[in-house]
Amino acid sequence: MSAAPHSDWSLAIHGGAGGMSRDNLTSEADAAARAALSAALDAGAAVLAAGGTALDAVAAAVQSLEDAPEFNAGRGAVFTADGTVELDAAIMEGTTRHAGAVARVTRTRSPVALARAVMEQTPHVMLAGIGADAFALTTGLEQVDPTWFRTPERARQFAEAGTTFDRAMKYGTVGAVARDIHGHVAAATSTGGVTGKRWGRIGDSPLIGAGTYADDRAAAVSATGSGEDFIRLGVAHELCARVRLLGESVADAARTLIAEVGAVGGAGGVIAMSPGGDATWSFNTSGMYRGSVASAAPPRVAIYANEG
Ligand code: ASP
Repeated sequence: MSAAPHSDWSLAIHGGAGGMSRDNLTSEADAAARAALSAALDAGAAVLAAGGTALDAVAAAVQSLEDAPEFNAGRGAVFTADGTVELDAAIMEGTTRHAGAVARVTRTRSPVALARAVMEQTPHVMLAGIGADAFALTTGLEQVDPTWFRTPERARQFAEAGTTFDRAMKYGTVGAVARDIHGHVAAATSTGGVTGKRWGRIGDSPLIGAGTYADDRAAAVSATGSGEDFIRLGVAHELCARVRLLGESVADAARTLIAEVGAVGGAGGVIAMSPGGDATWSFNTSGMYRGSVASAAPPRVAIYANEG
């Protein structure tokens, strides 16, 4: 994608990387995913086109994806080994590098909104578990019965996989990165984690620097994939560090980090946004649900590696 002029805005989103291919995704599932990605692009683009902030845009796009049952975040999240749903999310803005995150929340309809509340309403960066659920009650954010997150498709997958910890490349985490007309970047990520997770497992998505990072001097990044590997490598922060300290392009840094994830046996991808508005993605799986739109470019969505 070409560099955007300074007054332009740009948005990229993902709905997870994984083993999707034209052979194993039904045309209905393909169409539903594309429609959900398009709706999320519309939600974020509406904010940016009106002169809104990158932070508001990534929150709007991710909230739209959280409500979409196609993806592993919010409604449609995967099940833990106990058959419950535990949600993780993070949000960060690149100017002040303020960030907020939640892990293992069970009742807030929009985990990314709760992550933002942690950023804006507490002196903390990350809250987890029953404490995060308790904090949610003080925010006025919509609370739902945990059954609201459960979909028949996830119940079927859970029944099939049992309690096996899933490293079989079925990642459906959602994320967004944006650059607003003021030249600021932001990133957000939201996930149900991995199927069959237990012992309070938390992945990379809510960890600032692993699955989510934003720095106006470098990039905004949201990751998806085998979270343990992204944590080990500090993928999102290291991508930004390469840009800032080595002068690499965001696209080169993204490729380097995904190659390193592959080298340690990991699978997944990142979307990244430069402060100039260049969106990029990189992944080492056969597919990644993704989309982009910019003031100078119409919306486009893609799923498979060999398209777009
Ligand atoms: N990275 C997420 C995690 O490990 C999973 C995903 O991307 O779907 O929790």
